Amino acid sequence: MSGILDSFGRSINYLRISVTDRCNLRCIYCMPPEGVPQISHSEILSYEEIRAIVQAAAELGINKIRLTGGEPLVRVELPELIRMLSRIEGIEELSLTTNGVLLKEYALELKQAGLTRVNVSLDTLKPDKFRYVTRLGKLEAVLGGIEGAREAGFEPVKINTVVMRGINDDEVLDFARMTSKDGWHIRFIELMPFKDVAEFVPSIELRKQISLLGKLEPCPDFRGITGNGPAMYYRLAGARGTIGFISPLTETAFCSRCNRMRLTPDGKLRPCLLGEDEIDLKVPLRNNASIGELKRLILKAVASKPARHHLGEGNIRLVNRKMSQIGG
Ligand code: SAM
Ligand code: SF4
Repeated sequence: MSGILDSFGRSINYLRISVTDRCNLRCIYCMPPEGVPQISHSEILSYEEIRAIVQAAAELGINKIRLTGGEPLVRVELPELIRMLSRIEGIEELSLTTNGVLLKEYALELKQAGLTRVNVSLDTLKPDKFRYVTRLGKLEAVLGGIEGAREAGFEPVKINTVVMRGINDDEVLDFARMTSKDGWHIRFIELMPFKDVAEFVPSIELRKQISLLGKLEPCPDFRGITGNGPAMYYRLAGARGTIGFISPLTETAFCSRCNRMRLTPDGKLRPCLLGEDEIDLKVPLRNNASIGELKRLILKAVASKPARHHLGEGNIRLVNRKMSQIGG
């Protein structure tokens, strides 16, 4: 079995890398209108530094890498990083989470560089609401990006939807219908209260709502699309696509099924999305740390993964970074 066992018996085989804290959107739940103070270029890990970390992680059994941000496609020459990482032995899945705005332009190049999967974040199917939620974006561009990704051979494209009460919870059935109509794979995410924008909607409520369309059949392992990780998957009878629920606030599976760690743009390894702990890899790297030394630090981070986060206990405002700096 690949992965590194943590103190609670979870196998950690997945590293999410935030390649930039910059973004071309300003989603209301993620960033203030003016954006966040940017980390200076010299503090951001170079592609060569990211490659060294992934090499060390792969030697320990990490076999899945996801690039995220900020918006990863605003980082210059992202396909070059993908090419570099795709050559590392042991990396079986190399994926990207994007807001989709630039995806049409880059999809083919990303595919040719060795990217295996794409997730697109999309919270509404209504142009005006899209503008409200993202402050800067055009829905048309993202829909074009989804199409462009398919044309480039990314199948399936997964859609991530953060559900906000009173903002987009009226569209849950429209998104769910897309799994039958167009084979979309949707994952509904409970809004984490990094900012006070709206109330989250518990996944159980969404499941009840979606049952109006038909029975939701559990779908734990569907063509390698669903499986490990915190999401719980279902399918409407006959639908080509699946419906996943990521429930950081209401379901213990979010932590008990956790298989990942996160790397920030400035080189800090975070054992838990919602914890304070970070292990610095950048300073050791810039002091010529060997792959062996990086492996020791990665193992230390895995060993310090907590059993669970404390989001439900009123501690969220203690989180020391913005979501756009961690990568979601
Ligand atoms: N810019 C890219 C995007 O939007 O897909 C990648 C980075 S974004 C931080 C990664 C994911 O985190 C997105 O799916 C986004 O919707 C989600 N996210 C951001 N803030 C969140 C919050 N407060 N609660 C739940 N999900 C959040
Ligand atoms: Fe940018 Fe993604 Fe955050 Fe939206 S969720 S502001 S697209 S980083």
